Amino acid sequence: MLKRFFSYYRPYRGLFILDFSCAVIAALLELGFPLVVNRIIDDLLPSNNWSWIAWACFGLLVLYIINTGLNYVVTYWGHKLGINIETDMRKKLFEHIQKLSFRYFDNNKTGHTMSRMTNDLFEIGEVAHHGPEDIFIAIMTLIGSFTIMLYMNVQLALMTFIIVPFMAWLVVVCNKRMTVAADRMFSDIADFNARVEDSVGGIRVVQAFANEEHEKKQFAVNNMRFREAKLMAYKIMGFNISTSYLLMRLGNLFVLISGTWFVIQNKITYGEFVGFLLLTNVFFRPIEKINAVIESYPKGIAGFKRYLEIIDTEPDVADMPDAIEVAHLNGNIRYDNVTFGYEGHANVLNQINLTIHAGETIAFVGPSGAGKTTLCSLLPRFYERNEGSITIDNIDSRDMTLTSLRRQIGIVQQDVFLFAGTIRENIEYGKLGASDKEIMEAARRARLDDFIRSQPDGLLTLVGERGVKLSGGQKQRLAIARMFLKNPPILILDEATSALDTETEQAIQQSLAELSVGRTTLVIAHRLATIKNADRIVVVTEDGISEQGKHEELVTAGGIYSRLHHAQFSS
Ligand code: ADP
Ligand code: MG
Repeated sequence: MLKRFFSYYRPYRGLFILDFSCAVIAALLELGFPLVVNRIIDDLLPSNNWSWIAWACFGLLVLYIINTGLNYVVTYWGHKLGINIETDMRKKLFEHIQKLSFRYFDNNKTGHTMSRMTNDLFEIGEVAHHGPEDIFIAIMTLIGSFTIMLYMNVQLALMTFIIVPFMAWLVVVCNKRMTVAADRMFSDIADFNARVEDSVGGIRVVQAFANEEHEKKQFAVNNMRFREAKLMAYKIMGFNISTSYLLMRLGNLFVLISGTWFVIQNKITYGEFVGFLLLTNVFFRPIEKINAVIESYPKGIAGFKRYLEIIDTEPDVADMPDAIEVAHLNGNIRYDNVTFGYEGHANVLNQINLTIHAGETIAFVGPSGAGKTTLCSLLPRFYERNEGSITIDNIDSRDMTLTSLRRQIGIVQQDVFLFAGTIRENIEYGKLGASDKEIMEAARRARLDDFIRSQPDGLLTLVGERGVKLSGGQKQRLAIARMFLKNPPILILDEATSALDTETEQAIQQSLAELSVGRTTLVIAHRLATIKNADRIVVVTEDGISEQGKHEELVTAGGIYSRLHHAQFSS
C-alpha cells in the first residue's frame, strides 16, 4: 500500500526533493547551533575577544536567517506538495466514481461516497507532505544528536538515552490505538454524512410526515457516535503528549543532575554542559514531530485505505478492449435468450427473446415488478445481462463503447432528474454546446416554449434542486426537450407520463408521439390508452413475454392483455 501511496509523488518529484532537502538542511542546522554555542562559551569567552564573539554571533544570525527561509519553503512548498497529491487523488476518485455502474450506486449510499471525496482525503495532504520528511528528520536528528552527544560525553549521552525505550513503547502503543480510532472516526463521519444527506434530501417527506423528532433522534445517535470516536482519539493524544512530556522532562532532569555532578568533579566544562543541555533539547524535539505523526499518519492511512476501496472497485460494466465506436445506429434490436437477475436476487428475466425493428414503436405492459424497466435498462447496459446477447443492427451491444452506445439511446422516465441550474443548462444537457436557437427549437417541439417565455428570466430561470420549482408536467416537457436536442435513434419512454394527471398526460402524449417519429421507441406504460397506437404490444409477466401483437389482435385473443384492457376501460 505504501508503494501505491508513493506513486502519487511521481509527478512532483522536483517539489518533493526541494521540500525534503530544505527540511533536512534545516534539521542539520538545528543540530549545529548547540555546537556553536558550546564553542563560544568554551573558546571565545575565556579569550575575552569581544570582536570574535560578535562575529560568531553574526554567523549564527546568518544561519538563523537561512533557516527562516528554509522553514518558509518547507511550510509553503511542502504543503503545496501535499495539496497537489490530494487534488490528484480527488480528481482520480471523481473520475472513477463517474465510471462506476448502477450496481455500485444501488448498493452504496451517496453520503458514504461523498465522505470519501471530502473528509477522507483531507487528511491525505497533510500526511503526504509531513509523513516522509518528519519521519526521516526525526530519525536523522535522533541519530545525529545522539552521535554528537556520545562524542561530547559518553556517560551523559547514556543518561539521556535511558528514556528512549519508553518513548519507543509509547509510540507503538499510541500508533496502534490511533489507527483504530481513525478507522472508526472515518466510518462514523461517513454514516453521519449519509444520514444528513438522507434527512436533508428527504426533508419534504420528513416534514410531510411531521417526523422531525424521529430524524432528530436518529441524527443524535450518529452525532454522539462521531463525538465518541473523536473523544477516543483525543484521549490517546492526551495520553501520548502528557506521557512524552514527562519522559522528556525526566530525561532533562537526569542530564541536569549528572551534568552538574560532572562539572563539580571537573570532568566537563561549563560550555560542554550548556551545549549538552541544548543538545538534549534537539534530541527531544523529534519526539514532538513523532507525536504529530502519530496523530496524522493513522488518519491519512485510514483515508487512503478508504480511497483505495473505491479506486479498486472495478466498474462491472466497462468497455471491452476492442470495443468499437458506433457513429449511428438504425435501431434494429434483438434480445436473444437474455437472462438477468440483480446481484443477490433471483432472476428477473429468463431467456427473453425479442426482435424490434428500426423505427418501430413497441409498448411493454404487464404487472408492476414484472421486469419491464429491467428489460429496457439492459439496452444501454446500465446492468450487464448474465446470459444471452443483445444486438443492435447486428452488433453485440457489448462490442460497442459505452459512450457511443449510450449516445444512441434516449431515456425519459417517470421521475425526471434535473440539475440545480437553469432551464437552459438542463436542456443543453442533451447536447452540450448547443446554441440558444437550438435549445429554443427543442423547447418549442416539447411545447415548453410558452412557459419559458412567460418567465422573467426566460431560459435562465432557475429550476431549483432536482427541479423542485417546476411542475411535474414542466419537468417532463423539459426532459422531452432535452431528448429532441439529443436526437437519438432509439428511445425508451419508461412510464414517462404515469405521474401526471390525465389532462397533462394527454398534452404531453402529443409531444412524445412527435418525439418518437422516425425512432425505434420502447414505451412502458400502464395506462393502456396511451399505447393503443403502438406498432406492437408486448405483455411482460413474471414468466417472461407471454403475448405480443397489435392492440386489436390482443383484445380479441382474450389473454392477459384483453383482461387488463377490460379492467381499465370498464371502470
Ligand atoms: P417493472 O418495471 O416491470 O415494474 P422492474 O424491472 O422495475 O419492474 O423490477 C423487476 C424486479 O426487479 C422487481 O422485483 C424489483 O424489485 C427488482 N429490482 C428492480 N431494480 C432493482 C435493483 N436495482 N436491485 C435489485 N432489485 C431490483
Ligand atoms: Mg418499471
